[in-house]
Amino acid sequence: MTKILSVFVFLVFLLPSNLMQKALAQDFVEREAIPMNPEKGKDTRVFYSVFVQSFYDSDNDGIGDIPGLTSKLQYLKELGIGGLWLLPVHPSPSYHKYDVEDYYDIHKDYGSLKDYKKLVKKAHELDIIIILDLVANHTSNKHPWFKKAISGNQKYRDYYVWSDNPKDFEKEPYQWHQVRNDKGEKQDGERYYGFFWWEMPDLNFDHPQVREEIKKIGQFWLGKIGIDGFRLDAVPHYYPDDQLNKNLIWWREFRAGMDEVNPDAFIVAEIWGGAEKTSPYLKSGISAGFNFELSDTIRKSVLSGKNLGIVETVINIQEQYFVSNPNFEDATILTNHDMDRIMTELKRNNNMAKVSAALLLTLPGNPFIYYGEEIGMLGEKPDEYIREPFLWNIEGEDSGQTNWEIPYASSSKTVKPLFYQKDDRMSIFNHYKSLINLRNQNPALSQGSISPIATGNSKIVSFFRYSGTQEAIIIINLSSEMERILTPYGLDGFEMAYSNFNVFKINDKEIYLQPYSIFILTR
Ligand code: CA
Repeated sequence: MTKILSVFVFLVFLLPSNLMQKALAQDFVEREAIPMNPEKGKDTRVFYSVFVQSFYDSDNDGIGDIPGLTSKLQYLKELGIGGLWLLPVHPSPSYHKYDVEDYYDIHKDYGSLKDYKKLVKKAHELDIIIILDLVANHTSNKHPWFKKAISGNQKYRDYYVWSDNPKDFEKEPYQWHQVRNDKGEKQDGERYYGFFWWEMPDLNFDHPQVREEIKKIGQFWLGKIGIDGFRLDAVPHYYPDDQLNKNLIWWREFRAGMDEVNPDAFIVAEIWGGAEKTSPYLKSGISAGFNFELSDTIRKSVLSGKNLGIVETVINIQEQYFVSNPNFEDATILTNHDMDRIMTELKRNNNMAKVSAALLLTLPGNPFIYYGEEIGMLGEKPDEYIREPFLWNIEGEDSGQTNWEIPYASSSKTVKPLFYQKDDRMSIFNHYKSLINLRNQNPALSQGSISPIATGNSKIVSFFRYSGTQEAIIIINLSSEMERILTPYGLDGFEMAYSNFNVFKINDKEIYLQPYSIFILTR
């Protein structure tokens, strides 16, 4: 942390007295009402979402694997990562593995359960927690349950959802699927429900046995393997949209089951939509939902160079969550494995990428970094091209670099590999690393409440964070121009904790901010 800059000492003596600053002081007081996790006093962690297949290869088959990931834990620790979300790792016929064949094992390309246990042990030694991507809305059509179901076994037939009513098929023609025989020929008769795809038959959560099976799977991973929680796939889809309450009851039951083994399990849910959609789940045992609404506001603001209400969005969401559960947590992202990569969204603008990262890492919540984001990897849909091999070095220069697919977007011609970013003080990687570690070391950033700072400039984002022991002020210029704001009131004693430019440019009442400048001050 750098000591206060001389220019900042100058700022301390500027005690202005206009309405703007009064409004600011008022905000400070009013908004302290909603700290994150007020009762638990729980710290947040910076998570890293990793597609194992594309991360690091330990046995030279070109496919990333669990031992490879384990060998890179030290890299993640140095980056400041405190939690890992592994995209699905179970046996599955697809490359993405969101159609599970066996919930109790690891895909053979990725290694074994023994390898996975070793990963958990080593991660815990480094104070990194692990959450499992639990995909239980549906199974693979290759799962033994479904195979038995279509061969006429009534017990397992009841595990899935069936209909012979043509009205159902008319209503949802892409969700009701005909059974296929061994030759792939579609059969007449009852159809099964598969919300996403015919190879992903939905499980029947009205069946008590199915509920028991899924709870048993969760308990196995928490208890026997020692993981720390789950990322739950497709949470709102376990029941149709008009049966929200049944869905909530199921998730409460799931949580109760997990509590028997680990009451501290961190459970983060994939729920696309705004806070009003996520909020009900937070009283049903879900710790946090991915904050897609905020990611949208951040991305659009950075792209347009205008603050489209970033802090207001955070506070509005927090207020909705708070009503549902005062102990709510949040899971923030820029993008994930289902979205075009942030660097591509931002048209390869390095400054914009840094500003986005600064927002993600200074706002409240548990930030989830999508692997490769920290080196500015590129990629847009189809999905395979947003899940490309992590670029450790120039191709062929690191035997662990995966090559299960030929990258379309991120090669060493388009993205500077990690190896070369490490020594570059101005690299995206070092920006991420500094900000994550700064967040980890400063309670105001990792657990503080948030209140907006009015700047009178729509291109600036500025906010205040307060943890009870520490305060932070964040000022970010979203635009490509030099911008001016009024000097905030009450800066006495603040020190510069991070900036990507050396100085504020000021006169007696105003601060001039260079394009895309980021300032983090703490007291
Ligand atoms: Ca491998």
